[in-house]
Amino acid sequence: MKNPKRVLLLGAGGMGMAPLALYLQGAGIQVEAYDDRFREPLRSNLENAGIHVLCDPTPLENPDCVIRTSAIPQDSKLVKPWLTLEVPVFRRGEFLAHFTAKKNLLAVVGSHGKTTTVGMLCWALRQVEFSFSYLVGGVYADNQFPPGRFDKNSWLVLEVDESDGTIDLFNPTITLALNCEWDHVDLYDSKESMGDVFKALFSRTSSNIITPVGSELSEWAQIEKGKKHSNFELNEDLSRYHENNLAAVIEAGHALGVDLSEVDFDQFPGIARRQSILHQGENRTIVEDYAHHPTEINAFLSHRRLLLPKHSLQVVFQPHRFTRTQAMAEKFADELAQADDLHFLPTYAAFEKFDPSGSVENLIGYLPPRLRKRTNVFSDFSQLCDTLGVRPDVKHKDQVLFVGAGDLEKWAHAFAAWENANGQKLEAFSHFLTNKLSTGTILKADEPLANKTTIGVGGLARWYAEPANSEDLRSLVEACNLFNISRAMMGRGSNLIVPDDGFGGLVIRLRGNFWKEISSRSENSLVVGAGAKLKDICTFACINGLSGFEFLEGIPGTLGGALRMNAGAMGWETFDLVEWVSFLLPDGTIKEIPGTDLNVGYRYCREAYDGIALRAKLKSDGKSDHREIRNAIEKLAKKRRASQPREASAGCIFRNPEEVSAGWLIEQSGLKGESEGAAVVSDKHANFILNQGGATADDVISLINRVRERIRESNGLILEPEVTLMGKSWNEYLS
Ligand code: FAD
Repeated sequence: MKNPKRVLLLGAGGMGMAPLALYLQGAGIQVEAYDDRFREPLRSNLENAGIHVLCDPTPLENPDCVIRTSAIPQDSKLVKPWLTLEVPVFRRGEFLAHFTAKKNLLAVVGSHGKTTTVGMLCWALRQVEFSFSYLVGGVYADNQFPPGRFDKNSWLVLEVDESDGTIDLFNPTITLALNCEWDHVDLYDSKESMGDVFKALFSRTSSNIITPVGSELSEWAQIEKGKKHSNFELNEDLSRYHENNLAAVIEAGHALGVDLSEVDFDQFPGIARRQSILHQGENRTIVEDYAHHPTEINAFLSHRRLLLPKHSLQVVFQPHRFTRTQAMAEKFADELAQADDLHFLPTYAAFEKFDPSGSVENLIGYLPPRLRKRTNVFSDFSQLCDTLGVRPDVKHKDQVLFVGAGDLEKWAHAFAAWENANGQKLEAFSHFLTNKLSTGTILKADEPLANKTTIGVGGLARWYAEPANSEDLRSLVEACNLFNISRAMMGRGSNLIVPDDGFGGLVIRLRGNFWKEISSRSENSLVVGAGAKLKDICTFACINGLSGFEFLEGIPGTLGGALRMNAGAMGWETFDLVEWVSFLLPDGTIKEIPGTDLNVGYRYCREAYDGIALRAKLKSDGKSDHREIRNAIEKLAKKRRASQPREASAGCIFRNPEEVSAGWLIEQSGLKGESEGAAVVSDKHANFILNQGGATADDVISLINRVRERIRESNGLILEPEVTLMGKSWNEYLS
């Protein structure tokens, strides 16, 4: 394979892939990076490095090759289209082994501690201004130091992973082997089979092998004749494993001809999720760690016990993969028995199918009886908060340890935020989001909403956000889910009444440029962001000679609002145009759903009611001359000007009953001009209520009730509101 000029990375938000993206971009390759979940500050770091971060897996141009994380299988629907197009697809390790084949490689391998060791080694080498390339399998805790970097014609320091078998493809100059224990039980059936992989790597190593003194790794290395073999001191006391990292790093420095012994390792920022202290108070300490193997758990718990022997050990553990949990259940139970209380999250599947023998319920069966009674299984974050409470008193000091490699990270951070906010969830919500949102995102407290609606009534939002991109939106939604905070979407606010007492949760508005994309994707279709104005879609379609969008011209909303409302005019509806809509669903996943599969009706779309519409593909009726389209738009606009008021309103207030229009009924009942405070039924179109200046939401709602009552009396018909009421059900307000 020739070196590519342009690559697409699938799963680029992962800890192995993001450094690769930085490395390849540094090597002069154009990188497009896709993941369905990037986190901040990783996303911003990639973008700042010039990498094109994609929110859907469609690159701007076809790549020369695709690189996937091993977590995305070859038969995934993300991969298949590239195979069909005969674009080569590689796993991360396969690509790297090929791409770096001519480099002098220092490979760091082992079952535990690779990322911290590589992170420490690279950081130390930079302190002494050694010139080299590197890829670390994690991010530095202070985000100051990039996890991947390319340097021409120099050494490459790399963490080589045994978990997916690609270790077999590397031929290092120097190998630093830290330890070898049975793991990745789906790939290796015994410790011996894992050991064989390490032995084979030693035999492919051309120059130096570095191992822990007196270990079996050291014995295996000695078999390799004609190669330099050195050892580093190993402290058998696992609670002091940091010293082992340091000894390994100094020895690796020697092999590179660099003396690292004078480096001040106290300044090492650490790697995120490795023994990270999230909160340290007099009575409570909160720490998270990536430990997901019994040996790692032992090291972490015993180290923490040593540091704070009088604090009770509250362990929140999420097992990683059913296969590992099942195969090592007894060992996990042995090590977890160091806890005073245990709190489990369900096993993190990592693409495996559910297997009850690898579940936490099964694991509990292996715990000593004392602990079994003191073990909870949680799927709701607030239950954990209720169980642990805020700041135990001085007599009951504790340390809460979040342990695991799955998605309990968000629980760890949310718990620290909750503790810092003294159990106040609305405060905890904003603490949690600090550093999780990119700088482009706006998050404000107590924001007025009336000026964001076309009718201009209503109170404040307790929290208000304009997310800069879909990752920030997901972080906001995640925070709402964790802290049980209600949320409401807002588009242009043109079919929305905000109550006078405002909204007590988070109001989200998709307002920045990210959400306003309008682009043509084929001859006759557009991909449009949910924050795009309907008027702009209509203009874009007209300029490009696409007909069918004309009816959108006079509707003053955004695509998001139009999808939720299935907005329509003059016989057309929004869903006449829809090929698919991409939604952020309540469970936090993003899904592209074909229009034909959506539950849509008159001024209604079920999926937009539950989820958040992000973007949609809209198809045209066909090509037409733009002058003809312009004429059709003008005709519709003229009709609208003649029939609708221009003053502040929220559009049509009531849904049309079958076979008769609400406006006609209201007009026939003599209600034009009827008013409440500064709210009045329009003289031009009786289904519009106008704010004549200074009206309140209560005025508008009272008038709505009066109109309903009169129609019920005069026609026996019950008018239902079409306009939405932020965060409330109309049932609470209608008499
Ligand atoms: P908003 O009013 O802000 O919100 C409406 C609803 O959509 C809310 O429930 C909100 O939570 C939800 N929402 C907003 N964004 C999203 C999202 N991304 N995902 C999920 N839910 C979301 N309507 C018509 O159908 N036909 C017309 O001809 C018409 N004419 C109008 C004329 C005037 C003068 C006015 C003021 C309004 C008119 N409307 C009309 C009503 C209104 O413009 C439409 O319903 C429009 O589609 C609402 O879009 P919006 O962005 O303003 O949504």
